[in-house]
Amino acid sequence: MSRTIIVSNRLPTKVLRTADDELSFQASEGGLATGLGSIYRQEGNVWVGWPGLFVADAAEEDYVREQLRHDSMEPVFLTEDEISDYYEGFSNSTLWPTFHYFPQYATYEPAHWAAYVAVNEKFCQAVLALAGPDDTIWVHDYQLLLLPAMLRAARPRATIGFFLHIPFPSYELVRVLPWARELVAGMLGADLIGFHTFGFMRHFLSSVSHLLGFAAHNGRLEAGPRTVLVDTFPMGIDYERYAQAAVSEAARQHEASYRQALGDIRVVLSIDRLDYSKGIAERLRAFEQLLLRHPEWRGQVSLIMVVVPSRDQVAQYAALKEEIDELVGRINAAYRTMSWTPIHYFYRSFPPDELASLYRLAEVGLVTPMRDGMNLVAKEFVASKTDENGVLILSERAGAARELSDALIINPTDIDQLTAALHEALVMPQAEQARRMRAMRSLVQQYDVFAWTDLFMDRLAFAKQQQLSLH
Ligand code: UDP
Repeated sequence: MSRTIIVSNRLPTKVLRTADDELSFQASEGGLATGLGSIYRQEGNVWVGWPGLFVADAAEEDYVREQLRHDSMEPVFLTEDEISDYYEGFSNSTLWPTFHYFPQYATYEPAHWAAYVAVNEKFCQAVLALAGPDDTIWVHDYQLLLLPAMLRAARPRATIGFFLHIPFPSYELVRVLPWARELVAGMLGADLIGFHTFGFMRHFLSSVSHLLGFAAHNGRLEAGPRTVLVDTFPMGIDYERYAQAAVSEAARQHEASYRQALGDIRVVLSIDRLDYSKGIAERLRAFEQLLLRHPEWRGQVSLIMVVVPSRDQVAQYAALKEEIDELVGRINAAYRTMSWTPIHYFYRSFPPDELASLYRLAEVGLVTPMRDGMNLVAKEFVASKTDENGVLILSERAGAARELSDALIINPTDIDQLTAALHEALVMPQAEQARRMRAMRSLVQQYDVFAWTDLFMDRLAFAKQQQLSLH
């Protein structure tokens, strides 16, 4: 029987070292872990990835490996240097800014590239140790762009899928990378390559055509001797979990205590990881302008802004944190009163039931990334609105905007438009809110993360059938 192997940079379980030098295993609540749970836990299947821990010695390595194997996971151990050069370096300081249209933040370090190649090779060896010749391998995301071709070289008959969770940018961005050809060729080792949106897929095909001279017709890319399928699979969330969490007793209790603290202030909500791609500073400027242009909202509306700490080892992230701190300080100092705070700013992460109560509490969800592969927060806000009240303001440059067309769609660089959208959301009649929210909820419910997984796996099975018919 052939097995399915999932590969991603991180495993769905994080191994942590506690203060008294014990190891603890924490399962991830992330969307990918939920969506793929039904696959990798099946008999014989496995998920390969980094467990998030630097092991002290071979005995510890054996212990972690043993523990993870009980739950269908196979760790790839990385050294501190590898994490620094492959992950923080090439992945997050070269590919991430380039693919999110921030080339001015990208670094081009040959040593980082060498580490990226070496770690992709390390992942390849880990997968090969598990994979038979006819197995199905599903590789995830921008940290492992070279892996499909490496696997293909060693397992010509394997069925390999690849999904990119971040945007694929215009060729004009890709061509700047000294390693553009290798990266695109690396992806082409797959039989099926998936993107969140048609736009990302089109950009990829354009890069393939420019860099390698291969053309595509109707989602079939003729890549030398092989045919590669290319398609869009917009990722969803676990809708039922969010819809249920929103009406849970825990969420209601949190909401009641928040409500008591806020009085009858209306709430605009923003939730992101700290990242320059998320448009956090522009959002703050728009909220400031709302208070300036529409003084009637002063004392009436507050912005609750959750920023989850992320990548603070990278210089641009530290600078962004300072910019946000300063903007929040300035706006609050200018407008606050004894009984009203314009911006409630939290620089930390929230547990799921508190997030659920924030989604419930907010009348307006403000999601304004400069670039985003999908943006799951937008979908979680919608899924949590069980009473169909509430308005989503969504950047046209988030992948989610392709599906959630009943949001107020804005250009996040246009602060005037953003200000107008905030005002429009606050005065939108309830019937219109419900009409828009109902349409969005039905879509998020239908195309949930389980449907996403099934669609990708079905298409991959189709790719496999085609291979068999060719052999
Ligand atoms: N999130 C969380 N705790 C928080 C804030 C956010 O777990 O305190 C989650 C949120 O529910 C969402 C994810 O972080 O599932 C962010 O995903 P998104 O696609 O919006 O952005 P990314 O961080 O992947 O760029």
